[in-house]
Amino acid sequence: MFLSVFDMFKVGIGPSSSHTMGPMVAAARFLDRLRGQPFRVAGLRAALHGSLAFTGVGHATDRAVILGLAGFRPEDYDAARAEATLAEIARTGQIVAPGLGSLRFDPARDLQFDYGPPLPGHANGLVLRATDAQGDVIVAETYYSIGGGFVVTEAELRAPPPATAANLPYPFATAAQMLDMARQSGLSIAAMKRANELTLRTPHVLDQGIARIWEVMNACIDRGLATDGTLPGGLQVRRRAHRIRLALEAERGLNISAPHTINDWIGVYAMAVNEENAAGGQVVTAPTNGAAGVVPATIRYWQDHVPGASPARVGAFLLTAAAIGGLIKHNASISGAECGCQAEVGAAAAMAAAGLAAVLGGTPEQVENAAEIALEHHLGMTCDPVKGLVQVPCIERNGLGAIKAVSAASLALRGDGTHFMPLDNCIEAMRQTGADMSEKYKETALGGLAVNIPNC
Ligand code: SF4
Repeated sequence: MFLSVFDMFKVGIGPSSSHTMGPMVAAARFLDRLRGQPFRVAGLRAALHGSLAFTGVGHATDRAVILGLAGFRPEDYDAARAEATLAEIARTGQIVAPGLGSLRFDPARDLQFDYGPPLPGHANGLVLRATDAQGDVIVAETYYSIGGGFVVTEAELRAPPPATAANLPYPFATAAQMLDMARQSGLSIAAMKRANELTLRTPHVLDQGIARIWEVMNACIDRGLATDGTLPGGLQVRRRAHRIRLALEAERGLNISAPHTINDWIGVYAMAVNEENAAGGQVVTAPTNGAAGVVPATIRYWQDHVPGASPARVGAFLLTAAAIGGLIKHNASISGAECGCQAEVGAAAAMAAAGLAAVLGGTPEQVENAAEIALEHHLGMTCDPVKGLVQVPCIERNGLGAIKAVSAASLALRGDGTHFMPLDNCIEAMRQTGADMSEKYKETALGGLAVNIPNC
């Protein structure tokens, strides 16, 4: 099992890694496949299934698929060009796909929301089809967006591709193995993760990539803190991060703040990120878009409020967090559509708690303990976004996830790492809970808060 730090932390666009980034990536993969075909493609069609259909409009899945078919990719997304491209496609009924020319695609006719049963492989399924000049289907591929921007085909789902790194020095697939290897090697979790990463890239490329991840995360916090207004989507949710930040800054030095005000700082950093995500801005999956605020907020809290914090240690934070996120993804899920919000914000809190415990000097056992505490106290948490938008409860939930992460790290550091519930067991409990959870609570907007909206 190997998931790179750059699998867990990917630069992309809001509002959802599974419903926006994943479908865009799937469309890009489909174009790659078509470019290798000998015959002439004349048109395209897309069908969204399961959660992608039920909450697709709220998550901008329709826009993501169309833009993906027009050659857009999450990592270099250009918002202004996207709007112009969508308008042109709606006007002409044609998509200009790079390398394939102008193809017939009328969004009203060729993009279908299928509200029937989900496809058998995963709650987030989409089928992309290419047609010939007569409109007959000549190529079709089913893709599943399995969370965090990861996309697999039907065949890959049945037979996962082999791990990309065959000769990892520390091939841990469970937390128990991770701790054993740390004991035997005397290395930290971050150092083992770094050694694994260096089988795929040079130290320079690894360090540059990690620096870029933190740069994008931090810039996202700053944009969110600086931006006021109302979020798109129709719920009329007002951004709050900007005004909370102004209030917190005004209170500084006045000796009127209660000690718990630090929680407002932690929360507002996360809310800033998730407001940017909800607005379709540039974010980093951590491990998903919906949960993108927790890890950056915890790092920013540490950097701005904890004496002795060093920017040079952000890499160790992110590598540790990625190791924990990889264990959760490998052994359970990081997808709200598969396991509820415990798998998104819960996973993010576990990653952030582990990262913070590590950079505050925790042993591998204390780091594992921090991750377990944070995940344990998100178990059972459902995914019920109102109107399918990643706004309510998602934005505040990230703030609370970050606060829990900081508390979990702090609690773990007050012990010696020995504790009752191993992280592996907690991850398995999360997987089982997610499997038992009604579909209503797995990103379908059919239950929970999503159906208890006040009459305004
Ligand atoms: S409720 Fe949680 S899992 Fe669901 S969309 Fe919001 S952040 Fe993601």
